[in-house]
Amino acid sequence: MATKMITTEPRVRFQPLADLVAYQQGVPAHTTPCTACWNDSTITRACLTKPELARLLGVSQRTVDRWKVRGVALEAADRLATRLGYNPVAIWGFDWDAATDITETVGSGR
Ligand SMILES: [Zn+2]
Repeated sequence: MATKMITTEPRVRFQPLADLVAYQQGVPAHTTPCTACWNDSTITRACLTKPELARLLGVSQRTVDRWKVRGVALEAADRLATRLGYNPVAIWGFDWDAATDITETVGSGR
């Protein structure tokens, strides 16, 4: 595990992105517990599963796991939003503004 990663980098929550992808697929995003599939893997298309989500975002399932825990770095979030046809502000709203504000004020001293 890489433990030396920068932790102060602003990030946005992953869930709004997962919800958007699910919405575009016409299914709810898989959650825990999931009221769409009840974790029954034999039910397909009930919800957007992690493998599908990873494929649609063009990343590995491990990356999805990491994003769920740590959030998505702004650069990746911006890229993914564009890929999905959205402005990041439309997905993250105030959170995006807050995160990018932090970026812009980094290094300005306290
Ligand atoms: Zn599910």
